[in-house]
Amino acid sequence: MSQPAAYVITRPRLAEWVGKLIGRAQVIAPRRAQGGDVAYDIVETPDQVAWDYSTSINPLKRFLFPQGDELLRWQRAGDDGLQLEPTYDETDRIFLAVRSCDLSGVLFLDRVFSREPEDVYYMTRRQHSTLISLTCSEPVEDCFCVCADAGPFLETGFDLQLTALSDDYLVEVGTEKGQELINQAEGLFAPAPDELIQARRDLEKEVEARFAEHKSYFAAALRKVTFDRVPDELWEEMADRCLECGGCSFVCPTCTCFLTADWQSEGEGHRDRLWDSCLYSCYTLEASGHNPRAQRRDRVKARFFHKLSYQFAKELETHGCVGCGRCIATCLGSNDMPTVTARIRRGAI
Ligand code: SF4
Ligand code: SF4
Repeated sequence: MSQPAAYVITRPRLAEWVGKLIGRAQVIAPRRAQGGDVAYDIVETPDQVAWDYSTSINPLKRFLFPQGDELLRWQRAGDDGLQLEPTYDETDRIFLAVRSCDLSGVLFLDRVFSREPEDVYYMTRRQHSTLISLTCSEPVEDCFCVCADAGPFLETGFDLQLTALSDDYLVEVGTEKGQELINQAEGLFAPAPDELIQARRDLEKEVEARFAEHKSYFAAALRKVTFDRVPDELWEEMADRCLECGGCSFVCPTCTCFLTADWQSEGEGHRDRLWDSCLYSCYTLEASGHNPRAQRRDRVKARFFHKLSYQFAKELETHGCVGCGRCIATCLGSNDMPTVTARIRRGAI
């Protein structure tokens, strides 16, 4: 008999299930931090999961592509030899109750890091990851995932997708891995009745209508950026507003700039990968001293070319924004995605 694609779980049983997940893997979920913010973090008990959150201040990328990541260790072996040992992270992780935009951000990273030559460090972590998303029913001011086709509900990409419906959660199965989690949960889930599946569909329509006011002009911006029809003065003006803090890169679920650094002492050492930002002047500085993007204007332009051009969208099958809105909250110069796409569309400030 084929298994149902949707299940229902009550709230008390949900807590029991989370307890079981915590016993099986490292569980990363929205967790209330000091000051009332919510951040994705490791949870040790089911009551630490902030089910009623709107968005988290950080994306998931630091768990899959950490800000500082040891890639390999080396040791001198004999007079001339060197022993190298790569450092792979094979921790089993379950990402629980992640918002659709953040799950879409992980799918974007998958495309970036699975290109040849595949990034074995990222891919190892992904092979050991399970993605359980939580649909959104309350759009917040800065979110525009509907414009980016990255939420508030997803059709694919998740292992399981949860939707809160009155006292129950509807659980949609996206993959065999997700189905396996349900099968291991011994009686906590029941097949979802048709009315509940219909209620989820109705909720999606209702929520999308509420998101309708949230706009980002991706189509117009994509055309203009691709064909280099953005006036230089506009890039110049945006560059004047940029403080080169790198905040937009670090909070963005789809930004992947990095550098590598070597550390050594007494015949041994390690090579690490560290987050970087294409807005930093040193990012493209070459050993010769030449910098192809010495002007900040060129760096701002390059950032949005990577995010919005057809050349990159074709390669990665989407543009580089999932509409999470974090750059709106972060950028002191208002070089956030909705503002920049609106300016590009107008061709003026
Ligand atoms: S957050 Fe704003 S000011 Fe900071 S680097 Fe990004 S564009 Fe520049
Ligand atoms: S560009 Fe801004 S809104 Fe888009 S994914 Fe990055 S941080 Fe989120």
